Amino acid sequence: MVPPGRPNLVVSPRQGIGHGFSVSRACRKWSVWRDLFGLAVAAVLGIVTPSASAQPTEPLLLPKPRPAEAQPREAPAADAPEPVASACRIALTEEIAIAPSIPPITGPGACGGGDLVRLEAVVLPGGQRVRLTSAAILRCAMASEVADWVRRDLAPLAESLGSSVAELDNYDSFDCRGRNRVEGAKMSEHGLANALDVRGFKLASGQAIALTERSVDRSLRETVLTQVCARFTTVLGPGSDWYHEDHIHLDLAERRGGYRLCQWNVYDPLPEVAPLLPEQRPAEASPREQEQMPKGGQKKQ
Ligand SMILES: [Zn+2]
Repeated sequence: MVPPGRPNLVVSPRQGIGHGFSVSRACRKWSVWRDLFGLAVAAVLGIVTPSASAQPTEPLLLPKPRPAEAQPREAPAADAPEPVASACRIALTEEIAIAPSIPPITGPGACGGGDLVRLEAVVLPGGQRVRLTSAAILRCAMASEVADWVRRDLAPLAESLGSSVAELDNYDSFDCRGRNRVEGAKMSEHGLANALDVRGFKLASGQAIALTERSVDRSLRETVLTQVCARFTTVLGPGSDWYHEDHIHLDLAERRGGYRLCQWNVYDPLPEVAPLLPEQRPAEASPREQEQMPKGGQKKQ
């Protein structure tokens, strides 16, 4: 019992302790006043402060996720860093080769590379163009070495033949594959855009020179062999393995100790008249003379 005249002290788990009135109601009133005061201060200061009572009850609406099939956003031009041209790129001018830069290739796997060009033609010192058929995708360093080979070595060789180089065959350039097209084999330099396969070249006179053809002058093929082995770190041709009988593989692979590979057997021309089986004796030929056995005797020893 509570004596009369004393405030009724109520303890309730919901309302807490009160003296004839609810503490929580008083707190709510204070909270309202505090919020109003806070808003007034914010209005004066020109700011809005988040208040516990101002928390939104609705969940925040987030922007819809970008659909997977949407086109990639174009980065603002100002943010895109200007690609820095390599020393090779700067040196490979249009006076040396028609070789526009192309974007880097990344993958699949370890394939690809940067500083790539599409080598369309080599420009000779006199201005004539030697077309690559077809254009080759190569690293700038490899394209630059190919251009230098054509300009300094092949062009004078063609001149010695009384003509000029018109076309260089591109049998294969960038190609993401294992060595010798063997699946699972160590990655080919072709996968790094660091290799070019060449079958031959064409002269302005129309003459085609196939480098692995035995009928082509042997000394000419040997001259080309000396040229390429002095320039490229890998040269594979006939006699190296079964994969290079009909073309010459050139690349700029870097090996420990600067080791180079020059494997190209310049074969002798095949004899003009191959050994033939004895021809069949024509039916109209006169019969072979047979040795006559002496009458009544034996053949002499
Ligand atoms: Zn090759």
